[in-house]
Amino acid sequence: MPSSFHFDAIIIGAGMSGMYQLHRLRELGMRVRVFEAGSDVGGTWYWNRYPGARFDSESYSYAYSFSQELLDEWDWSEHFAAQPETLRYLNHVADKLDLRRDMQFDSRVDAARYREDMRGWEVTLGDGSVYRASFLITAVGPLSAPTMPRIAGVETFAGESWHTARWPHQAVSFAGKRVAVIGTGATGVQTIQEVAKTALHLTVFQRRPNYCAPLLNSKIDEAAGRALKAGYPEMFARCRETFACFLHTPDPRSAFDVTPEEREAFFEKLYASPGFGIWQGNFRDILTDPAANELITAFIRNKIRQRVTDPDVAEKLVPKDHGFGTRRVPLETGYYEVYNQPNVLLVDIQEAPIERITPHGIKTRDADHAFDMIIYATGFDAITGSFDRIDIRGLADQSLRDKWVSGPQTFLGIQVEGFPNMFMLMGPHTALGNIPRSIEYNVDWVTGLIRHMRQKDLTRVDARPEAVTAWTDHVKAVGAGLLSNEVSSWFTGVNSNVEGKQTRIIARYSGSAPAYRAWCDAVAQKDYQELEFT
Ligand SMILES: Cc1cc2nc3c(=O)[nH]c(=O)nc-3n(C[C@H](O)[C@H](O)[C@H](O)COP(=O)(O)OP(=O)(O)OC[C@H]3O[C@@H](n4cnc5c(N)ncnc54)[C@H](O)[C@@H]3O)c2cc1C
Repeated sequence: MPSSFHFDAIIIGAGMSGMYQLHRLRELGMRVRVFEAGSDVGGTWYWNRYPGARFDSESYSYAYSFSQELLDEWDWSEHFAAQPETLRYLNHVADKLDLRRDMQFDSRVDAARYREDMRGWEVTLGDGSVYRASFLITAVGPLSAPTMPRIAGVETFAGESWHTARWPHQAVSFAGKRVAVIGTGATGVQTIQEVAKTALHLTVFQRRPNYCAPLLNSKIDEAAGRALKAGYPEMFARCRETFACFLHTPDPRSAFDVTPEEREAFFEKLYASPGFGIWQGNFRDILTDPAANELITAFIRNKIRQRVTDPDVAEKLVPKDHGFGTRRVPLETGYYEVYNQPNVLLVDIQEAPIERITPHGIKTRDADHAFDMIIYATGFDAITGSFDRIDIRGLADQSLRDKWVSGPQTFLGIQVEGFPNMFMLMGPHTALGNIPRSIEYNVDWVTGLIRHMRQKDLTRVDARPEAVTAWTDHVKAVGAGLLSNEVSSWFTGVNSNVEGKQTRIIARYSGSAPAYRAWCDAVAQKDYQELEFT
């Protein structure tokens, strides 16, 4: 390692990606430092402590699979574990692998600059300290840059206010309080159904409803846990084969291959099954053929209308601007029934826009609502947001933000031309799905590339422009025809709370995970010819 370097590699972020990457690079004998803005490991599961925060992936299918020991010694208590359990799990992993000794917490990376003279990266933290390393690995998270709504007066509110992704570490009580929740995405849904249990009064401010489906969580007793563990090899093998690394994968039939009665029975079965099956394990064409999509959409609309007693409220909860599954499907436990409670009010802010937050509450066009607490469940500047918050500069001082102004261009979602020796984990254009499965694959791929370079004494790697074009075109091609890419949501890079993010982009790789891995494997097998080593 050149003496000007502090480390062989710097990793930004100590979530599941950064933790596993650190472990793998240590195995290569590298000196690594992880810089993390939070005060401990866990990423998503460190920050999102809001009430009701839990998996939508089956717990065991989400866990790391790389260590048999870790698999053997961890018991999940529920099929869809809550945040505290997941954070305990990640702390256990960090303890077991002694990860913290190479991690620096409360250390936000503000800037990262490639220095051609050193063939390496110079990273500047919020406190002004500077560190240099050969490799820079971003593990900054696809959903880790929280966004606040663009509403006047937010700072004037005199009561308690919390963003769900910056929830305090101490318990927050809703008892006896008038609580507002702004936002009805996956996080909002989990929060609302929990707050409604104890709040004196809950008002939900909804801009766009989503189609939610039952989570149907349950406990795992000892015998069931043993049986699950015995099946881990087959389960992880299945996750490797499925479209998006979930246990669920599309049914090979078209929605039109069956009679209306069979279709209804299939939809009912999925609606009564735990997890993402109704989204990820439905007829193969519901997410690509508008007519097939309309069938499942009508089914879910009916469910909402059946579950909500006041027909006017039900109508407000039924999305009108997109079909089922074309945005991230929130999974729920009694969410719709919350609106049957006498202490819950739904405010449609398309009808009555919020004009401002006042010291006492929220003023809409129609009313002044008084609150003791406001909860912002307003989500994230997804996928590219955490990159935008760092001043990343490559060759000739080019800024990544500028380079991606009309959408990301990457090679395999891992590299960016002109940003040598920088690798992204769970950045744009990678397969996300059941994310830890993708994390493990991408970390192993990056580790393989670094190993290759070290074996061959190569010190600089960049993506070739033609490889970037081929990959970016491929990402666009596999995304074509997918209904979710024709709808504005974080999947398509749209966030009305973020300046400049009103135009749809292709943010994710939306082909199958096996196809993604096949492409990446082929690159490695051909000795990374698409890359330029100098
Ligand atoms: C509430 C919630 C529920 C979810 N449920 C599921 C689920 O059921 N299934 C699923 O597959 N996925 C789920 N996800 C997605 C989840 O983000 C991923 O599964 C996974 O945790 C991502 O891990 P990561 O390490 O890539 O990113 P993260 O866990 O987001 O970690 C990124 C880390 O980088 C740090 N960081 C970012 N920028 C900087 C900087 N400039 N300087 C220093 N540190 C920085 C952040 O503080 C953070 O700790 C959920 C996400 C949320 C928010």
